[in-house]
Amino acid sequence: MVLAELGGRIQAALGRLNSATTVDDEVLNLILKEICGALLESDVNVRLVQQLRGRVKQVMDADEAVGANRRRMIHKAVMDALVSMLEPQTKPYKMKKGQSNVVMFVGLQGSGKTTTIAKYAHYYQRKGWKTCMVCADTFRAGAFDQLKQNATKLRVPFYGSYTEADPVRIAQEGVAQFRAEHYEIIIVDTSGRHKQEADLFAEMQEVYDVVQPDDVVFVMDSTIGQAVHDQATAFKDAVPVGSVIITKLDGHAKGGGAMSAVAATNAAITFYGTGEHFSDFEAFNASSFVSRLLGMGDMKGLMEEVKSSGMLDNQEEMVKKFQKGVFTLRDMYNQFQTVMKMGPLSKVMEMIPGMSGMLGNMLKGGGEEGGTRILKRFLYMMDSMTAAELDGVVQLTPSRQLRVAKGSGCKPAEVEFLLKMHKQFAGVVQRMGKSGLMKGGDAAMA
Ligand code: GDP
Repeated sequence: MVLAELGGRIQAALGRLNSATTVDDEVLNLILKEICGALLESDVNVRLVQQLRGRVKQVMDADEAVGANRRRMIHKAVMDALVSMLEPQTKPYKMKKGQSNVVMFVGLQGSGKTTTIAKYAHYYQRKGWKTCMVCADTFRAGAFDQLKQNATKLRVPFYGSYTEADPVRIAQEGVAQFRAEHYEIIIVDTSGRHKQEADLFAEMQEVYDVVQPDDVVFVMDSTIGQAVHDQATAFKDAVPVGSVIITKLDGHAKGGGAMSAVAATNAAITFYGTGEHFSDFEAFNASSFVSRLLGMGDMKGLMEEVKSSGMLDNQEEMVKKFQKGVFTLRDMYNQFQTVMKMGPLSKVMEMIPGMSGMLGNMLKGGGEEGGTRILKRFLYMMDSMTAAELDGVVQLTPSRQLRVAKGSGCKPAEVEFLLKMHKQFAGVVQRMGKSGLMKGGDAAMA
């Protein structure tokens, strides 16, 4: 089951909570059956699924779990249980600005290590870190070429050799050179093998010894599901793995199982890969991830994207308004304009609360272009509104909506949809403002 499908099923089960007239044991059992079934199909370990069931069932015993409160508590218990399933117990390495951070990548061949290195470099480079790569994979023919190609595309300096066969020597020389040049993030690619074997681990340890990395990143293919547990454990036993990056979470049935299995080894998942392009890469945060999985958006992630894109001129003002829980149509207009510049659109849209659910199929069907087209239509509609309408000073009555539809060349139903979406978005911002969640943010990565 692909992750979106898993999220959809859990969402649907939680939806039953709202539609049931009363929430009794029978309804809860039905909901749990659906959620647990979906998790098991996603290859999540049975023990973890049972833990979730137990935690959620406990809610029924609480005295305050009555009426609407019971629904809220169950909803929250499911969310919390999913988050704790994915939350590693250890904190990952934090990059230090202004000094050389050496990051050694390890993983089996085919796991997506080389691709991930490029994504990782791209991620930090976009955030303004002076980044470079060293290719110490002399085992696989063509490894250096692949890294070189990616590095050239990304305009990231690289170090490697066609003639030197000793990976330890290359790693040592490359890192020394880039340290001397004061690079902030020095990424070292090491060899993979088809399967775990003594040679691979011995080589990894040798490279580790000479390079003395600040972090060892283990790249792992999620398509093997919960079997990643043993793989992660074996690598952790061989070198001090500090972070794990899970790849190929797009379009595969076992992603959920893989992620929860990694978390169960207590390794910190830092990023995950969702495709073959450099931008198909996300920083991992358990609660943001679960929010997005359940179509609830990820405001914190969105704010981080907005901040790091540096494209929102009145960003400070916007953050302040968000913290107060204010979100007008004009704010949405500005937000959409930023989103258009930020790209890739479908990824950003997922972070907007309620958006993935409402726009899901439209965006999926139309791909990136379709998404841009829809967004443009939203902007046309808002262009046809008056300042008072955009700022929420006057309500958009049906006759006003009709005027906006005519003025923008859109259908009245589209205007209605836009307003509904705004209402949903504004509601989330208001709740987050009240809860203080927007304050401080926990930009875990950098
Ligand atoms: P390596 O042998 O570990 O260095 O693996 P590569 O980086 O060469 O990747 C192996 C294959 O997996 C390539 O075809 C990549 O394009 C693909 N790949 C890597 N990461 C992802 C991902 O997150 N999603 C998908 N769909 N494919 C990926």
